[in-house]
Amino acid sequence: MTLRGMTEGSTVVPQETPFSRPDPKTEASVRAIGERLFELMDAHPAPGILSKKGAYARIMEWSMRDPAFKAQLFRFVDVLPSLESSSEIVRHLREYLGDKAVELSPAMRTGLAAASFAPAMVAGPVKANVTSMAGQFVAGATPDDLVKRLRQNASKGIATTIDLLGETVVSGPEADQFLRRNMEVLDTVAKALSRDPAPCFSDLGPKGPLPRLNLSVKVSALTPEVLPTDPEHSIVALKERLRPILRRSREIGGFVNFDMESYALKDLTLSLFRSILEEEEFRAGPQVGIALQAYLRDCESDLKELIAWARRAGRPIVVRLVKGAYWDFETTLAGQRGWPVPVWSQKPESDANYEKLTVLLLENADIVSPAFASHNVRSCAHAIAQADRLGVDPRAYEFQALYGMADELKGALVATGHRVREYCPVGDLLPGMAYLVRRLLENTSNEGFLRAKDAGGASREVLLANPVGLLAPGRGAAPAGGFRNAPNTDFTKEANRRRMREALGHAAARLGGRHPIVIAGRRISDREWVASTNPARTSQVVGYWARATVADADLAVAEARAAWPAWAARPADERAGILERAADLMEARRFELGALEVYEAGKPWIEADADISEAVDFCRYYAREMRALGKPRVTQQVPGERDIQLWTARGVGVAIAPWNFPLAILCGLVVAPLVAGNAVVMKPAEQTSVIAAELMAILTEAGVPPGVLAYLPGFGEDVGARLVGHAGVDFVAFTGSRQVGCRIWETAGRTLPGQANLKKVVCEMGGKNALIIDNDADLDEAIPAALYSAFGFSGQKCSALSRLIVLEGVHDRFVERFLEACRSLPVGDPALPGTVVGPVIDAEARDKILSLIEDGRRESRLAFQASLPAGLAESGTYVPPTVFTGVLPSHRIAREEIFGPVVAVMKARDLDEAFGIAMDVEYALTGGLFSRSPSALERAQREYRVGNLYLNRGITGAIVERHPFGGFGMSGGGTKAGGRGYLENFLFPRVVAENVLRRGFTPPPEDPS
Ligand SMILES: Cc1cc2nc3c(=O)[nH]c(=O)nc-3n(C[C@H](O)[C@H](O)[C@H](O)COP(=O)(O)OP(=O)(O)OC[C@H]3O[C@@H](n4cnc5c(N)ncnc54)[C@H](O)[C@@H]3O)c2cc1C
Repeated sequence: MTLRGMTEGSTVVPQETPFSRPDPKTEASVRAIGERLFELMDAHPAPGILSKKGAYARIMEWSMRDPAFKAQLFRFVDVLPSLESSSEIVRHLREYLGDKAVELSPAMRTGLAAASFAPAMVAGPVKANVTSMAGQFVAGATPDDLVKRLRQNASKGIATTIDLLGETVVSGPEADQFLRRNMEVLDTVAKALSRDPAPCFSDLGPKGPLPRLNLSVKVSALTPEVLPTDPEHSIVALKERLRPILRRSREIGGFVNFDMESYALKDLTLSLFRSILEEEEFRAGPQVGIALQAYLRDCESDLKELIAWARRAGRPIVVRLVKGAYWDFETTLAGQRGWPVPVWSQKPESDANYEKLTVLLLENADIVSPAFASHNVRSCAHAIAQADRLGVDPRAYEFQALYGMADELKGALVATGHRVREYCPVGDLLPGMAYLVRRLLENTSNEGFLRAKDAGGASREVLLANPVGLLAPGRGAAPAGGFRNAPNTDFTKEANRRRMREALGHAAARLGGRHPIVIAGRRISDREWVASTNPARTSQVVGYWARATVADADLAVAEARAAWPAWAARPADERAGILERAADLMEARRFELGALEVYEAGKPWIEADADISEAVDFCRYYAREMRALGKPRVTQQVPGERDIQLWTARGVGVAIAPWNFPLAILCGLVVAPLVAGNAVVMKPAEQTSVIAAELMAILTEAGVPPGVLAYLPGFGEDVGARLVGHAGVDFVAFTGSRQVGCRIWETAGRTLPGQANLKKVVCEMGGKNALIIDNDADLDEAIPAALYSAFGFSGQKCSALSRLIVLEGVHDRFVERFLEACRSLPVGDPALPGTVVGPVIDAEARDKILSLIEDGRRESRLAFQASLPAGLAESGTYVPPTVFTGVLPSHRIAREEIFGPVVAVMKARDLDEAFGIAMDVEYALTGGLFSRSPSALERAQREYRVGNLYLNRGITGAIVERHPFGGFGMSGGGTKAGGRGYLENFLFPRVVAENVLRRGFTPPPEDPS
């Protein structure tokens, strides 16, 4: 086997690389040290992870041969701890491994088939096997197990760092418990160590004994209040929980290491590390360290800053250099969000960066003690060779390796006089499974060193090769073809947060502007001015809009009728180009528009920002679709006849939009018919007509001609009703309440004298969306997803979660954790970066929601209601997040759309009942299921009839083209905004058949595609 196509002895270095070319002298020394380590490893073979005997070895071998088996097996391992009965274990085993794509030996297939006849006989051994697999990577469940392991390690000259398993906390009590467990471990281990005599070999540094009690902590486990978009607040919350750990560690002479998790938490973790250590009480202790991930492109600059900080502060620290454990996650997430991928794309790049940073660390070993955490012999040999070259005392740095992995390497390093520390996870099986799956993935990774060494049969020369020679030239993330969504802003970056703060400042300074009606390019100001106010601070006027009259509506329709034929006659490409220009303008003004939404709609930062992205996407997506529709399509090829279908605009339309996606929905309702060649009268929601005025200005600047688009702010009762019933209107594009939607549908059905066409209505209404939680759901994922789906933007999305249907087996556990999690919801002013729940749109909405809450109190149990921070209720139109439990399908709060931060929790016996309840409403917009049963997921896909079904994720946040959006029932007419076919709603299809046969001669046929 070769590593990424390297042939033995090849050292071709690509022209452009940020890494230095190999230095022959150092390379020779790396090679010699590596060979020596291999010899020692061969002489004392610990059972290599892949050479372990028995079931584990066979399973791992199979996993590496069959990726489908591997995926299914690891998924089964992940769900196993949540399964309570033998029959459930067997059912899941069969569902995962019985998948057709999985190749099983005939014996395994027969065993699997027979398993359901005697579940207990199969489930027991399966659970025992997986538990024993976990036992290979988890040092035990209790502090006493840990003490035992510490002593075993010490007897081999190996030091230990302790990691308490438990990565996601969703509530304060969970975080408190995690803190208590950490304190307990510190105390138990400190007591045990005080009875042990001298430190072991690896606990002796260049200046004497090192802290023997070494604890690794993950910040995400310390508090549920970690919001990467609001690091300042998160750091305050994190410090509360970290201080006791640091204090106790200092008292007992311990050491605390900050582990590094996902990229979103990286800057926050670094800031936390520096700022807590700058606090007076921690200036002199305890001793501390932090992990940095060499697979990150910005790891080098982070390390340099950290070294400079340590020098400035005169604070010696340890840096644990790792490559990084979340490569697939980071790559996938960045791909989904359209963000730059933060990790290197080639494995040898991570290796080469690791080596580069190894040198940087060793050069600064006087202030930063290096800890090289790697199971890769080449990476370790390189560190030793560089330390020798730089004259760094071998005791001034250490190696670290995980419990249950690379045992022979640990032995070889100690034998060559190097300090080694083992990372020992302890804890329960449940969080242990997530950790186990990560280790299994690492051990079976195609790219990994361990697999190449133990299972791939790679030669030593290949295993010890300089990674720079393995870099493939020009391999980077190839831009994906097809439509690309506008990426949302990454608010974990301080530069972006600064831009948003500045934009909010500028917007605040310009509030109060006046926005006249615009018809055929004329601005009409001599009308009543209506104030649009900030729902978070109702005394603050965002702007004034001129209230259109019924006569204005008539004028706008007349101008539109005059303008549309010329507009429709322009080539589709030209109209598409105008939309693309509008998209560019919106992107350029993203922060400014976002800030305005914060003030006018009360949208929290990330929601406002996502609304701008969606508006941009609508413009670009519909432009692209129209370019395609603009070309005639050959319907069928027959000799001598040319048969084509083409599209023609309907005429004049009205777009009536809601306030909850004040730019995106309005923009989508306007630009789809526009690009199709229609003229549009835009009637925005009264609450967000200032943002609508910005859209008007942008579309005009992009090139939409006068008359083709009118800006007609006004009230639904008069202007809206007049437009819908107007004989000069050919279609209505509406999103809003069911009540208004149904009225529009009915009005449009009455054909008036002089009407040119039957009116078409594109109608999107509300929902009563449910999320089902299956017994085997991953609650660590389901709870945050439910929380955000229900309360993000105060539940004011048509897709928002309103009913949680929880299966009996998991109901109590889920509800307890969910209610606790609700307590950590940040409620406040949306102008602050960490706010998740802001105000509702206006007093009318607030009063309606509060009255529904009163009904809920009478019908069921009020299980949670947030208390609003002081002053909030007086300043704005806030409704506290509220949860009812024990809700029955007949209750009003289980049936009526609420459009606010209120959730009804219902219990279901089984999935049959759960699907029944979920669909027993008049709406069919969004819905979801959290389950780890493949058959349940398949069933949901088949039976759960909603427009947008989300499996194992939140149920809000549809993205253009990826999730075309819209429902049926009383949720809408079945159209899909942002999806294929949507533009056709605003077009008439036409067919042309032409006889092309001339005296027996016929031209060659056209391509039908
Ligand atoms: C003691 C200890 C503590 C640890 N603490 C942390 C921690 O705090 N945070 C953390 O994230 N990890 C941590 N890890 C996990 C660590 O990141 C992985 O174990 C490590 O990356 C494996 O690297 P290796 O040198 O042993 O193996 P190798 O096989 O040489 O490297 C594997 C690594 O290469 C990288 N990689 C894989 N494919 C690609 C690709 N296509 N392009 C670019 N890079 C790629 C990944 O980082 C992968 O893990 C720790 C590990 C140890 C031993």
